[in-house]
Amino acid sequence: MTRRIPSRAIFFDRDGIVNKRVMGGYVTSPDEFVLLNEVLPLLNFARSHNYLSILISNQQGVGKGLMSDADLESVTKEMQYQIHTKFGWAFDDVYYATERSGEEPQRRKPSPAMLFEAATEWYIDLSASWMIGDTITDAEAGRAAGCRTILINHEADTPSTDAADYIVPDHDAALAILREFGG
Ligand SMILES: [Mg+2]
Repeated sequence: MTRRIPSRAIFFDRDGIVNKRVMGGYVTSPDEFVLLNEVLPLLNFARSHNYLSILISNQQGVGKGLMSDADLESVTKEMQYQIHTKFGWAFDDVYYATERSGEEPQRRKPSPAMLFEAATEWYIDLSASWMIGDTITDAEAGRAAGCRTILINHEADTPSTDAADYIVPDHDAALAILREFGG
C-alpha cells in the first residue's frame, strides 16, 4: 500500500492581487486585464518552493449578467497567457464563484468552499497552505479553510483587527513573509 503525500498550495485572490482592480466594476474582457508585475515574484516563490498556485476568485459579474461565462474564460486565458509568457508556466488551477452575493449555493468568499474543492481535487494539506488576498473576505475564507493568511492592504485603512495572520502593505512585504515562514 502506498501513501500519497499531500500537496501544499498558495491560493491567490485575483482582482487587486494578480491584476489591477477595476474600481466599482469587473474585468469583463481580456483588454481590461492588467497584470500586476509585483505578483510575479510571489508566483515564482510558489513554484520554486513546491506550492501549487491556485486562483480563488469571486466573479459575481457573471451572476449579475454583466459578463458571460465565456467572457470570464477569455479573461482567464489572457491571464494565463501573460503569466506563461513570463515563466513558461501559469496557475495550476483556477476556481471562480460566479453566483451573486446572497444566491444559493454560496461558494463565494468568505466561504471556504472553493478552497475545500481545490483541496479535494488536488489533495492539498490546507494547514500547510496560504491564502493571499486584498480584502478581509479573502482572509476569512483562508482562515475558515485552515490556511495561513496574508492580507495585502494597499490603502491606508489597514484593519487593526487580527483579520489575517499577516497584514502587509504590498506584494513585496507578502513575499518577505513567505520567505520567512513559508519556505
Ligand atoms: Mg481582491
